Amino acid sequence: MWESPVDMRKQIFCNRSLNMKSIVAVGFDMDYTLAQYKPDTFESMAYAGTTKKLVNNLGYPKDLLEWKFDWKYMVRGLVLDKKRGNILKMDRHKYVKVAYHGFQRVSREERQATYGFTLSRDSYDEPDYALIDTLFSLAEAYLFMQLVDFRDQFPEKIPSGTDYAQMYKDVRAAVDLCHRDGTLKQAVAHEPSKYINDDKQIVPMLKMLRQSGRLTFLVTNSLWDYTHVVMNFLCGKSGTDGGTPRDDEWLSYFDVVVTGSAKPTFFQDGNRSPLFEVDISTGMLQNTDQGTPIGGIGLNTPILPQRAVKQACRVFQGGSVAHLHRLLSIAAGAQVLYVGDHIYGDILRSKKELGWRTMLVVPELEFELEMLVQTFSIRKEVSKLRMLRDVLEDKLQSLEWALRFHNLTVEEQHTFQEKIEILQSERDKIREQHRQAQRDCHHQFHKTWGQLMKTGYQNSRFSHQVERFACLYTSQVTNLCYYSPDKSYRTTEDFMPHELEGIGL
Ligand code: IMP
Ligand code: MG
Repeated sequence: MWESPVDMRKQIFCNRSLNMKSIVAVGFDMDYTLAQYKPDTFESMAYAGTTKKLVNNLGYPKDLLEWKFDWKYMVRGLVLDKKRGNILKMDRHKYVKVAYHGFQRVSREERQATYGFTLSRDSYDEPDYALIDTLFSLAEAYLFMQLVDFRDQFPEKIPSGTDYAQMYKDVRAAVDLCHRDGTLKQAVAHEPSKYINDDKQIVPMLKMLRQSGRLTFLVTNSLWDYTHVVMNFLCGKSGTDGGTPRDDEWLSYFDVVVTGSAKPTFFQDGNRSPLFEVDISTGMLQNTDQGTPIGGIGLNTPILPQRAVKQACRVFQGGSVAHLHRLLSIAAGAQVLYVGDHIYGDILRSKKELGWRTMLVVPELEFELEMLVQTFSIRKEVSKLRMLRDVLEDKLQSLEWALRFHNLTVEEQHTFQEKIEILQSERDKIREQHRQAQRDCHHQFHKTWGQLMKTGYQNSRFSHQVERFACLYTSQVTNLCYYSPDKSYRTTEDFMPHELEGIGL
């Protein structure tokens, strides 16, 4: 398994140095981290469930039931402008570079008038904007854009008084219901292999970490019954279709399991959510009176080492990070590495507020890396054209300045003017070539949104967040198998623009 060097698509990349020897406990998120859902089946099911709820519960027309979902269209990192019915891709400075209204591209002039030349800088955050930052949100973003186009065409068919922002709220409510009422979870439980990738390396990875002396834990927002289904499947027991029956063996790969964790609030300092123990034989919460909580395990109640029932590890619901630290006897946040897929839900608070070390799972990275290789020559060409454009622009600006403010003879003015005209036309040609080459390059990554990690030639808002909040990032959680559990991950050297100049880059 430990090939050297590791296949590029399986590599773990490092933003902030991390010596695994200082890590005492490695924690995992479940959905879209350990369990990779298949977007063509899972997200399509979420989409279909949502349209049904919009029609049956929220008064939308039956037309929606005919609509199709293109699961390849939306990408993470986009921002929904709820009020205007737009979807935006921005760079790390929050400059909006691409905008669509529904599925119609917004012209450069209109985009700049709306998002560029304004007196105050928008933060592009809630409540007027929504960030598409989990793979769970791709289907709802797509449906929202379909509704925007539909409302523009047939306003009379949309429930009266429903503006774009209200449509977004309705979509959100319908998606939320699909996640909560069992629409999705029952189907997954019935046939997990249809919806979740079968990753045979989950168990070896967990075993390796435990053999290395690390504690392992799971903190998921899913509730116990669903967690049990998914974790059994990931550990080789589908429990359906004549597969191996589900059992509790998967618990032996963890020291603590927290379900229904309500991240990111779980990570909040001072969060007083009570912790309940799950009776795994019945799924009931202990410390409850016929389902009504009568008080969970308080922060001062001893929780370990006694175990209420004979099982490999204890399972909880709710609580907060303070409970978890006590359960695992964690002395400092920097002793914990947490692996998740959601920047806001898993990574941002745990890193910023607790000092946990973090690893972000970005499944899109495999394709992005393959494309980086394939587009090598066109990217080189883009960068050459950009340099040429900049040189021409510099020359032009100097000449224009000289023409206006130097005391030139009439003859000199004439020569300067001629040079300027030649340079202008050359600059325009190169500028257009550069734009076209950059567009072509981006289109090879994604025909609408381009490269996930870049906007133009700047880092995208998404990659900027990855850089800021994830100490490590990789395409799949099981890429941990390709490295020693004692590895010292080191960052590449930082460069300021002046240093790049110094080394001729
Ligand atoms: P985690 O990633 O393991 O913490 O679990 C994510 C959980 O959140 C899964 O059970 C999802 O079904 C659930 N989930 C994702 N999006 C929504 C939503 O919009 N509303 C309610 N639950 C959601
Ligand atoms: Mg997740």
